[in-house]
Formats: sequence, C-alpha cells, structure tokens
Amino acid sequence: MTEKPVDEILDRLEARSSQRASPGSAIGLEPSWRRDPFTMLIATVLSQRTRDECTWIASEKLFAKYPTPQALMSAPEESIAAAIGAVNFHKGKARAIKEIARIIHEEHDGIVPSDIDGLMALPMVGRKTANCVLAYAFEKDAICVDTHVHRISNRIGLVCSSSPDSTEEQLREVVPRPRWRSVNELMVRFGQEICTPLRPKHEQCPIREFCDTFSRENDRNGC
Ligand code: SF4
Repeated sequence: MTEKPVDEILDRLEARSSQRASPGSAIGLEPSWRRDPFTMLIATVLSQRTRDECTWIASEKLFAKYPTPQALMSAPEESIAAAIGAVNFHKGKARAIKEIARIIHEEHDGIVPSDIDGLMALPMVGRKTANCVLAYAFEKDAICVDTHVHRISNRIGLVCSSSPDSTEEQLREVVPRPRWRSVNELMVRFGQEICTPLRPKHEQCPIREFCDTFSRENDRNGC
C-alpha cells in the first residue's frame, strides 16, 4: 500500500457524481427521511442486506402509518412486518424497530441518541448504521462504511483491511476529517456503477491511475 492523494481521489469521485443527472443519495433514502434522526435510523436498519428500491418502498409505507417512536412502539408487530414486507428479514426487523422505538420513547424522551455508543446500544444497530445516522441525520464527522466503501477502499489501496470496522479505523487516519461525511455518498454510487463487486469497469474509472488493483492487473497483463 502506497500513500495516496486522497483529496484528489475524492475530488474526482465528486466531479463524477456532480455530472450525473441524478446524483446518488446515501443508501437510497428520501432526503426528508435522512434529515430526521428517527426516520434515518429506522430506514437504515431496514436497508440492511436489502436493495435500495425495496428499502424505499418499505420506509414509505411504514412512515405513512407510524411516523414517530410512540406510534411505532404501539403498533402491532404483525402490522409493522406487513408494512415493511418489501425488505429482507422483515419479521426480525419489525421486532427490532418496534423495540428501538420503545427504547427511544421510554429511555431517551423520544430523542434519538446522537453518539455512537447510545446508537449502538439499540437492537440491530452496528457501527455502519450508527455512523450513517451520525453523518447524515446529525451532520457529525463520521465515516459510514458499508460494503461498497469497504471494497473500494481496499481495491484502491487506501486501506488494507479484512473488516468494515478496521476499514473505518484506517480511513479515519487517511481521509481529512472535513471529508469524512462525503466518503459514503461518493463511493456508494461509484461502487454500484463503476467499481462493481464483479468485473469493475476499469476503463471508465476516473481514479484508475491511483488504484493498486488496476496497477496489479496491468502488471499481470504485461502493460
Ligand atoms: S481502477 Fe477498477 S478497481 Fe480501481 S477503483 Fe477504478 S474501477 Fe475500482
């Protein structure tokens, strides 16, 4: 792993993102859900192991019926499960989000915790979910490491890690703090369209000259 021009890499991803007709949004969420900590938290839990379109459908149905912690904690679990039927593991998620709503209502006066430990004490909230809520809903400096951020950061050589938690830790060392919040948004769409899990489109990549994976593949091909 060599030292990378991180600002230049992020600038290029940013330029690519702003050229798109519809720039990406974090984990495919409607902007108003992202601004509200409660809806951001619940939608992020729903998004786990689920496609963006399905998260969107489920969140829209759920928030139309149960928009607050009090409404959600009082709802029958079967009704919550029916509303979020579009997401994977919807029965387990229904149980978890009902409990999250109860804890927030009863133990936090209806206010979502704004620190990582408070968030991670909630059911089904790991570091990725907690950091997404901190970054997007609370606008705090946090790096939300999902599967795209983890894969791309390792491919480029920004980090060398085998787990998303370690990727987050290493990114915090190399990415300037003011840019932490933008990492997820920039890499998610890039990972869906260019640096895809299978057969990344190196030929369309604006940062390939900085990428260790690209260099290794070129070396192997004798270029
Ligand atoms: S060169 Fe290829 S592997 Fe490297 S970041 Fe670009 S698309 Fe991903």
